[in-house]
Amino acid sequence: CGIVGYTGKQHATPFIIEGLKRLEYRGYDSAGLAVTTAATGSEPGEPDSAKARAPSAAKLHYLKRIGRVAELELAAAQQHSALPALAHCGIGHTRWATHGGVTEANAHPHLSNDHRIALVHNGVIENFHSIKTFLLGHGYTFASETDTEVLCNLIAYHYAKTPPQNAHNANDAQDARLLVAVRGALRHVEGTYGLVALCVDAPDELVAARKGSPLILGIGEGEHLVASDAAALISRTQKVVYLNDGELAHLSPTDLRLSSLNAAPLEPVVDQITWSI
Ligand code: GLU
Repeated sequence: CGIVGYTGKQHATPFIIEGLKRLEYRGYDSAGLAVTTAATGSEPGEPDSAKARAPSAAKLHYLKRIGRVAELELAAAQQHSALPALAHCGIGHTRWATHGGVTEANAHPHLSNDHRIALVHNGVIENFHSIKTFLLGHGYTFASETDTEVLCNLIAYHYAKTPPQNAHNANDAQDARLLVAVRGALRHVEGTYGLVALCVDAPDELVAARKGSPLILGIGEGEHLVASDAAALISRTQKVVYLNDGELAHLSPTDLRLSSLNAAPLEPVVDQITWSI
C-alpha cells in the first residue's frame, strides 16, 4: 500500500518511519522496514576507535509489526531492537494484504532465502503461483503466503545468475547487478507493481520499478528518496521524478539512473512540487 525508501548521508530509519506515517491515511494493516549498514571501516566520519575494531561485512536488518506505524517506531526505538542505531539506506512499507492474512510473516519487507535481498511491493503478482512452483523446483523455500516473497526470491534467482562484475562502481558503465536481476525477474511477471529492492552487497543502492502502481523519486542534497506518494517526500525535497509504467530506477546517494525493462537508458524529467504540507 505505502512505500518509502532512502539512500544518503542522513539517518534512514527516522525518515522512513516519518514517511510511512504520512502515508497512513491510505489505510494498511501492518508495517515494516529494512536497512543496511555498511562494512565497518568504510563509514565516513567514523571515529578512529571504531575503525580499529575488526572490520565486519555489510549487513541487512529488518523489523515488521502488525498494526500501526507507531508500533514499528516503538519496536525500532527499543534497546534490543533488530535495527542498528545508524543506517543510511533503507526501505519501508505499509501493507494492505491481498495475498495471505495479516501476520508479521506476511508483512513487508520480504527477504530472499539467503537474507541478502529485501523487497517492498505494492500491487498484485498475478502469475505468482507458477513462479512459486518454478522456484520450489529450484530449492527455494517460503516463509509467507505472499506474492511479494515469491517475487523477492525470483529476483534472488536472477541475481545469482548475474555475473558479479555487474557490481556497479563509478568507472563502470554497466548496470548494477541488482538492477539487472530486478529487470530479469520483472520480464517474467504478470500483474502490477510499485517496488523497491535493496541488497546487502551494494548497501547504499536502491532499485525501484513501476507498473500500474505509482512511485515518485525525490532528489535531495547528496541523497535520493523514493515513495509511493509525494506526501512522504515533501518534507525533504520538492525536486521529484515521476516514474512511468515500465521504468526502473537505480539510486545511490549521488546517482539517479532510469532505464526500461529492455535496459534502454532513459532521461529523467525533473519536476518541482509546488505544494507543501
Ligand atoms: N500483494 C502484496 C501483499 O499482499 C502487496 C499488498 C500491498 O499492496 O500492500 O502482501
